[in-house]
This record gives sequence, C-alpha cells and structure tokens, in this order.
Amino acid sequence: MVTRVSRADAAAITDAMHCLKAGGLVAFPTETVYGLGADATNGRAIARLYEAKGRPSFNPLISHVVDVTAARGLARFNADALRLSKAFWPGPLTLVLPKLVECPIAELATAGLDSIAVRVPNHPVSQKILKAFSRPIAAPSANRFGHVSPTTAAHVVADLSNRIDLIVDGGATPIGVESSIVACLGEPALLRPGGVTREAIERVLARPLADPPGESATADDAPLAPGMLASHYAPLTPLRLHSLRVAPGEALLAFGPIPAEGAAGAASVLNLSARGDLIEAAANLFSHLRALDAVRAKTIAVMPIPREGLGEAINDRLARAAAPR
Ligand code: AMP
Ligand code: MG
Repeated sequence: MVTRVSRADAAAITDAMHCLKAGGLVAFPTETVYGLGADATNGRAIARLYEAKGRPSFNPLISHVVDVTAARGLARFNADALRLSKAFWPGPLTLVLPKLVECPIAELATAGLDSIAVRVPNHPVSQKILKAFSRPIAAPSANRFGHVSPTTAAHVVADLSNRIDLIVDGGATPIGVESSIVACLGEPALLRPGGVTREAIERVLARPLADPPGESATADDAPLAPGMLASHYAPLTPLRLHSLRVAPGEALLAFGPIPAEGAAGAASVLNLSARGDLIEAAANLFSHLRALDAVRAKTIAVMPIPREGLGEAINDRLARAAAPR
C-alpha cells in the first residue's frame, strides 16, 4: 500500500471521508497529537488499525465525534460528565462512560468493554473530517507500538508510511501531549493526565478527582491496569485453548477450516474466519466470544490461531480470557 500525504485542504478532507467510508486508515491532526483514524463502527477497519500500529494486544480506543449531541448517541452521561463536556468540549479531555445499548461502535474498538472512551476534538482539521464523515472515528496516536506519539505529519510518515492509506498534513499539533482521561462511571477518576489539568477538572466538578485503583496509564499506549476497568470483559464460560476438536457439549470458537469431525457434538460453533484471515478474526473476536458465552456451554474450545501479525493480539486476549479467575 502506498500512503498518500496531502496538505489539509478541501480535497484532502473529501479524500479522508471517502477513505474512512471504505474502511481505510487516515492519519490526521488533533489539538493533542496526530491520530490514526478508522471508522469506529467498522470492525474490519479497527482490526486493520491495530495491525498497522503493530500493537501486540488490543486496548480500547478513543472514539472521536463532532459534538456533544453525537457523543450522547454513544454513551450515558451522568451529571459530572455533562458538566465536564460543557466545560471542556471541544478540547483535550476524554470521558470514559457507560456504553448505550444502541451504541453502534464495533466491539473491537472498545476491546469488548461495556464502557466507551469518547472525545470531541477542537482542531479545525479533525472537526472538518468528523463533519464530512458524520460517524465516530476511532483514533489512537498515529505511531507504531512502543514509539512516541507524533506531533507532525513527518513523524507519521516515518512510522506508518505504506501501512496506512492517507496522511492529512495540518502542521504541528498545538498541545503535543495526549488528552486527559476522566472516567465518569462512579466517582469521577483521572485515568490519565493530559491536555486539561487536574486543577481545571476539579474546579468544574467542585470536588477532588478520585485516583484510579492501580497505576495510571501514562506510558505511551499503556493499557489501564485491569483493576481500573470496572466492567472489563471476560467470558464466564471457561476457555480451552489450542483445541482441534470439541468434547460433547462444548461450544467451538473456530479459526480457518474445521477438521473433519472437529465440531461433532458441539453445542454451538462460530468461526472467527473460515478462510483463516486474521483481520476478519480480530474484527469478530469479541462479538463471537460474547455470543458463545451466552450459550452457557460447559467450556468454549478454541482452535489454534497463528501468532503472526494480529494473531499475537488475538492470542493475548484469549490467554487472558482463559486465565483462572
Ligand atoms: P490513546 O488512544 O493512545 O490516546 O489511548 C487511549 C487510552 O484510553 C488508553 O489508555 C485506554 O486504555 C483508555 N481507554 C479507552 N477506552 C477505555 C474504556 N472504555 N475504559 C477505560 N479506559 C479506556
Ligand atoms: Mg499512543
């Protein structure tokens, strides 16, 4: 794939919109850092995004929307969240909120969680792309896993050239650090310090922010400590990994062609990707796990999944889901 780099003019905004609609990957400036955007409602686009970043595990992504009204179509706002959104949006504050049942965001974009991180950026280029696309855009920082966040288009070129479709160059990003993240799931807690100061947030809330349990996610791409994710998704049904055939009454999470007799007697079978495509498998992972969990079989047998590419993140997530609790 050859990455196009365009100055952020009207033609580039239209190009970005078409590209996102087609499930492509577009890097664009926000006021914090350059984001790597994909259609947040398209599981395959989100899988491609994780692949381009080369991240060895799935972490939940921030969904960017054009305004508060769009955000309220995704998540439930309590009084604190409303106050914070009025004070700081558009701007460098991300809110983690309970996902609405009708929330159209792909399961992979929230890593299967029942909460969603949402933000309204104020950078004119982000705003124009969000208006043109008129759907939520999932956008982590536009860098390869383990590298620092990019604040210029040249940084994005250096990291992601020929791994993404388009880079919209809108100059250096004004803030240069990530957004602050506040969870409004119970007492408001600061999950990550960033572009809006703790003092400013506490002034609006008229009380101190709670500290999240565990260490905070300050490192680049650091996932939150599991304890912070109150509603961290894990299936209730035990998983049996690397199985080539099911025992009677088990559910089967397949990958690729199912060996002869491999699914005989299964309570239910879902295939992450019958043709063995890891991008398709990642896009289906959380929704298939949920669906098989709902069958309430005694175990979910999981076929082996290769460790290359996105397979590493898929295996990481399955291993966590299989770990005794
Ligand atoms: P980035 O997009 O690279 O700025 O990082 C996103 C950050 O938001 C990560 O630290 C995630 O763990 C955090 N995050 C995203 N969604 C959620 C969520 N639903 N619950 C808790 N934390 C989240
Ligand atoms: Mg990052």
